[in-house]
Amino acid sequence: MSDSSVGGDAGRTTIAGVHLLDERTSSGLSEPVDLDIAGGRVVRIRSSAKHQGGHQADAGTIIDAKAMLALPGLVNAHFHSSGTFNRGLIDNLPLELFMLQEVPPFDFGPFPPEIYRAQVLLSATRMLKTGITAVMDDVIFYPAASPESIEAVMSAYHDSGMRATVAIYQPNKAEYSWFPHLRENLPPEYVSRIDQEPPPRTDEIMEMYEEFVRRWNGTGQGLVRCAVSCSAPQRATDDYLVRLHELARRHGLPYNVHLYESKLQRVAADLMYGGSLVGHLKRLGILDELTVLIHAVWVDEQDMADIGGAGSVVVHSPSGNLRCGSGLMPFRGLREAGTPIALCTDEATVADDCSMWSVGRLTGMIHTLGHPDYLTWPRAGEILEAMTSAGARALQLSGEIGVLAEGARADLILVDLNSDVYLPLTKVVNQLVYGEDGRSVRMVMVGGRVVVRDGRVTTVDEDALAKQARALAAEWLEAAGPAATWAERLSPAFDAMYRRSAVSDVGLNRWAGDDGTWLGGSGRATGTPGWGRDRRGGAAHE
Ligand SMILES: [Zn+2]
Repeated sequence: MSDSSVGGDAGRTTIAGVHLLDERTSSGLSEPVDLDIAGGRVVRIRSSAKHQGGHQADAGTIIDAKAMLALPGLVNAHFHSSGTFNRGLIDNLPLELFMLQEVPPFDFGPFPPEIYRAQVLLSATRMLKTGITAVMDDVIFYPAASPESIEAVMSAYHDSGMRATVAIYQPNKAEYSWFPHLRENLPPEYVSRIDQEPPPRTDEIMEMYEEFVRRWNGTGQGLVRCAVSCSAPQRATDDYLVRLHELARRHGLPYNVHLYESKLQRVAADLMYGGSLVGHLKRLGILDELTVLIHAVWVDEQDMADIGGAGSVVVHSPSGNLRCGSGLMPFRGLREAGTPIALCTDEATVADDCSMWSVGRLTGMIHTLGHPDYLTWPRAGEILEAMTSAGARALQLSGEIGVLAEGARADLILVDLNSDVYLPLTKVVNQLVYGEDGRSVRMVMVGGRVVVRDGRVTTVDEDALAKQARALAAEWLEAAGPAATWAERLSPAFDAMYRRSAVSDVGLNRWAGDDGTWLGGSGRATGTPGWGRDRRGGAAHE
C-alpha cells in the first residue's frame, strides 16, 4: 500500500481516555489511553494520565471515550452482497439443494444497477453499525457482470464509507458438469438450455477482469480495492484458473476460491481429478499466499499440510456450514498446519443477521463438538484475531487494518463498557466473543472518518434506503419466483446425487455425528456417534 492512498478524511482526531485490550491485566483492559489520528492513520497511542490538564489546541476533534473500549474494526472476509435480498428465503438444507432454491437457473436478470447498489448499501450499513469496517465481497451478477452493474456496486461502497475489497464471482464451466452422477438424472430440456447458454468465454472474462482492476482498484482514496474469484476450482477450467491467478499476482490481489464446502465436492473432485482439489491447485501453481480458501471443511491431512506450506488463508463460515449441514471445518488442524483462519458471515441467506459477533460466537462453540480434547478447542483470543487481523491477511492488508497500533489505518470501533453485556465486567475478551452482539458499538471509524455515531450511519440516509430497498427487493423476489418451480423439478436428481455422495467413502468424516457410509447406504440417521473420526489416520483434528 502506498502512503498516498490513506482512505477517508485526513483531519486530526483524538480519542481520549479510551481502554485497549491488554492481556496482562486481570480484566483484559489497559489503563486509559489517548489515540491520536491524522491522515487516516493512528499516529500515536499515549497514556491519558501523562497529559491531564487538557489537550493541545491543534489536536483537532476530540472524542471523549471514557468507559469505552477501542478495538480494530472487524473484517468480514467473505460475503456475497448479491444475496442480501434473499435473506430469510430458505430454511436449512444441504448446500446443493439450498442453492437450487435460491435463484432460478434461467431467465434471472439482467437487473437494473440500482438493485445491486441497494443490496450493497443495505448490507454495508448493517455491517458498519455492528462494527464491521472492512469486507471482501464476492459479488454474483445475474446472468453476468456488466460495466453498469459493476459501477453500481463499486460506487455504492464508495458512498458507504466502508473499506471494501470486491471480486466478481465467475465460474466458466456448465453448471451440471461440476456435480457427480447428476447429468444422467436431469430433465433433458434443462441440460439443453444450459448448453444453449454457456458461461462467458475465458478471453471475455479476462478482458472484463483486466478492465475491472484498471478502473477500480485503489479508488475511493484507497478504500475500495479489487480481488478475483473463480468461484471454485471444479467450476473453472485450468487455463482460466491460471490466467486469473496471473492477474492476481500482477496486482497483489486476493485470489478467492470456494473449497470443499461440502462432502459432495470431495466426491466430485475424486471423479474429476482423481484426487484432491488442493493438490490440483498446487499442481497448477496457484496455491500461495494470495489464495483465500473459503470453507475448507472437507480437507484431509495432506490438504492441511499443503495449505499451511503454501501460506494461504482459510475463511471460515460457521453459520453457512451449519445452515447447509456441511460439517465442521477442522479448525485446530488447519491452525496447527500454520494457516491463518479468518471469519465471515457469507451471504445473508445463511447468516441472516450479517453479524461477525454471531460467527465469532459460533466458532467459539461449535468446535467443541468435534473432539473431546479440550486443548484443541478455539480460544476467545484467537477468535478475536480471526475476526480482525486474520481477515486483514485475507484482504492482503496485514498491518494496515485488523490491528490497533501506531501506523495502522484508523479503522476502529468504540465499544461501550457500560452496556449490559459487560455488567459485571469480568474477562473482557470472553465477554466480547461470547456475549457481544453489536449492541454496544457506539462509534465506528474507517480511515479516520466517523461513519457510525450513536448507532446511526453518517454516510447514508437509512430511512430513504430502506424505502427504496423494499421496492427493489420486491422486484428481485418476483424475478426469483420461478426458482421454486425449477427446484421442484430438479430436486429428485439433486436429492439422489446428495444421498449417493453422503454415503460415499471419502476417507474422512466432518459431520459431528454419523457419516453416511455407516448407514449401509440407507440414508437414514441412526444416531450412531461418529465424532470426527478419520478412518485413514485415527483421530481427525477437530
Ligand atoms: Zn461464498
